[in-house]
Amino acid sequence: MPDWQCEADVVVIGSGATGLPAAIVAREAGASVILVEAQPHIGGHAMVSGGNVALGGGTSAQKKYGIVDSPDLVFQDLTDWSVVEPNGFPDYRYNDREIIRAFADYSAPTYEWLAAHGVMFIDAPPDKRGGNAVGNSVPRENHPAVMDWAMVQTGKPARLETQATRCSGNGLMRPLEAAAYKAGVEIMLEHKMTAIHREATGRRRVTGITVEHRGAALDIRARKAVIVATGGSTGNIEFRRMFDPRLTEEYCGLAGMPWSDQDASGEIAAMAVGASLWGLYNQTGEFGSGITKPGSIGCQYGYCHLHWGTGSPIFDRIRATGLAVKDWQDLILVNMLGQRFYDETSGQFTANNHGSIDPYVPNDWRNASDIAYKPNNLINAAMAGIGDGHNGGGPIWAIFDADAVAREEWKPAPPYVDIDGGFFFSAPSLAELAQKIVMKYQRVAMPPQALEETVKRYNGFVDAGRDADFAKPKPLHKIAKAPFYAAWATPVIHDTRAGLRINARTQVVDMNGKVIPGLYCGGESAGGFSLHGLARAACQGVIAGQNAASEES
Ligand SMILES: Cc1cc2nc3c(=O)[nH]c(=O)nc-3n(C[C@H](O)[C@H](O)[C@H](O)COP(=O)(O)OP(=O)(O)OC[C@H]3O[C@@H](n4cnc5c(N)ncnc54)[C@H](O)[C@@H]3O)c2cc1C
Repeated sequence: MPDWQCEADVVVIGSGATGLPAAIVAREAGASVILVEAQPHIGGHAMVSGGNVALGGGTSAQKKYGIVDSPDLVFQDLTDWSVVEPNGFPDYRYNDREIIRAFADYSAPTYEWLAAHGVMFIDAPPDKRGGNAVGNSVPRENHPAVMDWAMVQTGKPARLETQATRCSGNGLMRPLEAAAYKAGVEIMLEHKMTAIHREATGRRRVTGITVEHRGAALDIRARKAVIVATGGSTGNIEFRRMFDPRLTEEYCGLAGMPWSDQDASGEIAAMAVGASLWGLYNQTGEFGSGITKPGSIGCQYGYCHLHWGTGSPIFDRIRATGLAVKDWQDLILVNMLGQRFYDETSGQFTANNHGSIDPYVPNDWRNASDIAYKPNNLINAAMAGIGDGHNGGGPIWAIFDADAVAREEWKPAPPYVDIDGGFFFSAPSLAELAQKIVMKYQRVAMPPQALEETVKRYNGFVDAGRDADFAKPKPLHKIAKAPFYAAWATPVIHDTRAGLRINARTQVVDMNGKVIPGLYCGGESAGGFSLHGLARAACQGVIAGQNAASEES
């Protein structure tokens, strides 16, 4: 039996894009609210995000710029089964209609709610940044201005002249943090939820949570409801492998980490009181941004759209900024055995086929009829493995030489690269470089001769002007001048797109299709909705906050 030490009407777990709106809405509806956050800081992945928020359905911004949209059009777009990515994976086919209907109806009100709670959207027409995966029929992407908040990526505000025009997750989350304090939400930082409690008999209502705070356990009672807003599961190796067994431990560079983790704690605690998972295909499908090519190499956290600076308040966790790659002609990528496996300059699929057929008829089978299944070669090649029976592909290393360092203007030393962590190596010869690559995820030694042969063959392609193995367009630079370098370049995991089963009211549903009384969920910890990011999180936070506050105590 829990020993309640504090209590509130509504207890929210997580202070990200779902949790803060949920807490503010519940508080403003008259409920007392405790919000617990595992980290010593608020914001979750939303804080370090690009901040682009795809809310439409007839927002004031859309109306101002003459964009005609409606909840029905949002619903139609996000349930159009015929929209597929160039690799054949359908973005929206497996979305739960009930959940999408709620999002469509709450999309424009959520935009207005954010604006009314201090988020300064850049005064410009909503656009399609983020591609068809967030827009489709009409532009819906809105951009919160970073303003003068210190950015967590750098520890400093953006340059004065860009503060009103630069989009950032800091610009979304800092105003919401201020709004939460103003509304009287009690925020408990460094309080990590470890269990959810539910009555054993009777209505079997959820009654509260246990949190861990600096080694001590604390039971917090929720008189009305608990809202799970914990942000997903991709950081939990065993959990994510339920969807894709290849995602073994070497995929340690999650986007958004180490500001906050996606450790599946919300999903696991809710499943322990009977919750079901939902929409699992959406996690298994190979969508453009789910697993990505890193943008920076030689560090653990090299996600292409997140660049950490040494001034970040969490730089002790990040350890190295990484070397941002300007031109993938400057290096080759090899697996643990020192073998190349694809054209390093190739990108990855980022947009679907919406609108590519004229006339485009939503939900028409002909939209998808010409799409051949083409597995994303970059990610699948990197994760193909070395034939030793292990599920994951193992570390991927960028190999380059002193001339590449000069061309890219890199400084191959700390704090730019993580030598102590084992994510960067250098040596006077290729054979010595291969021998030096010893770190926890390199489970077999790289044969020195193999690396030498790979580089020799590649240099031959530069002479010939043709990559006979992987058709890299006209290989330009030999790898010949010592010292030689090996920098971590393993794919980065991004979104969680499957999680707890919820209904339109964001109530969590059990394995028998029954609502678990007093338990809500939204954002990346909720399933049934394949849409990148902030919009679904904020929208479901608003819905959850409203409904949780209206529960009987
Ligand atoms: C680099 C990057 C760029 C992005 N750019 C965009 C973009 O431009 N547009 C877009 O739409 N989306 C973007 N996203 C995605 C977007 O940020 C997320 O989808 C969104 O933040 C998810 O909201 P959430 O509330 O589910 O989780 P989060 O915002 O991650 O919040 C979850 C919070 O819960 C806390 N928590 C977890 N477990 C516990 C526990 N047991 N106890 C207490 N607290 C816990 C976490 O510490 C965290 O603070 C981006 C993500 C990243 C990483």
